[in-house]
Amino acid sequence: MKIGIDLGGSHIGIGLVDKDKIIAIKDKIFNREDRKNIENCILNEIERMIIELLVENYIKKEEIELVGIASPGTISNGKIVRASNLNIYDFEIVKILKNKLGMNMIIRNDAKCAGLAEKKYGAIKDYEDSVFLSIGTGIGGAVFLNNKLLEPKRYSGFEIGHMVVNRGGRACSCGKKGCFEAYSSIKALKMKVTETLDVDNDISGQYLREQLLIKDHPGVKEDIDVFLEYMKVGICNLIDIFEPQAVCFGGSFSYYEGNPVLDKLYEKLHEENSTFNGKPLPDFVIAKYKNNAGIIGATIE
Ligand SMILES: [Zn+2]
Repeated sequence: MKIGIDLGGSHIGIGLVDKDKIIAIKDKIFNREDRKNIENCILNEIERMIIELLVENYIKKEEIELVGIASPGTISNGKIVRASNLNIYDFEIVKILKNKLGMNMIIRNDAKCAGLAEKKYGAIKDYEDSVFLSIGTGIGGAVFLNNKLLEPKRYSGFEIGHMVVNRGGRACSCGKKGCFEAYSSIKALKMKVTETLDVDNDISGQYLREQLLIKDHPGVKEDIDVFLEYMKVGICNLIDIFEPQAVCFGGSFSYYEGNPVLDKLYEKLHEENSTFNGKPLPDFVIAKYKNNAGIIGATIE
């Protein structure tokens, strides 16, 4: 039995995991007070929820083989070097929690965790070469070649969301301009659509998806088109560089299955001259574990 932790920009999810099954789950949403000392809040809540999970499920600490954390941002040697959406820098989370709990612990970038879950058990398990894209608040990803996750030595690498798709374009949280995620993350789409409809930005993902079905609003149509045009640019760049057999859509974008926005993307990707020398396109698949992929993938070593 393992424990998977999904550390997000707005919440912590902790699950008791047996291979690809989540046996029990706990969740904590950050409030304004928590954010004043977010590091402390994270440490305390993780400790509290792990103990609760063990007690409620009659499991001894010694029975847990591994605690894995999926974290946003740049991770290096057990440390969160930088997670700008949590406002965390140089946080020795693994070292501190190991001392507190005495459990075996690892940490990895959340998009890579989600990609690993899909690679080991999910939508891309039968492909040797694939690109996993986590499209949500930002865009992250994982690349698998010959069944292996590509991992650079020093930092997280594969900052897919920060390849520039429009020189001098929209400002990105990373400090650059025109990044892929500044155009094609769900956050970017939400910002544009709520601006166009003149409604509050604080809407749910589901409400956003419903709004996108209002076909006749010319402004929203334009917003969707810009979102998808840049999505196509980013994806086709990745296809030309890595030659994957499949591209997998994860993160909150995986909930767009059945939404015409996704059909429109497929249409765009299949337009002529999308890829180098007209190379055939890979399969496009939807993540199996959706938002649970982080918790499951965090436990894969
Ligand atoms: Zn960026």
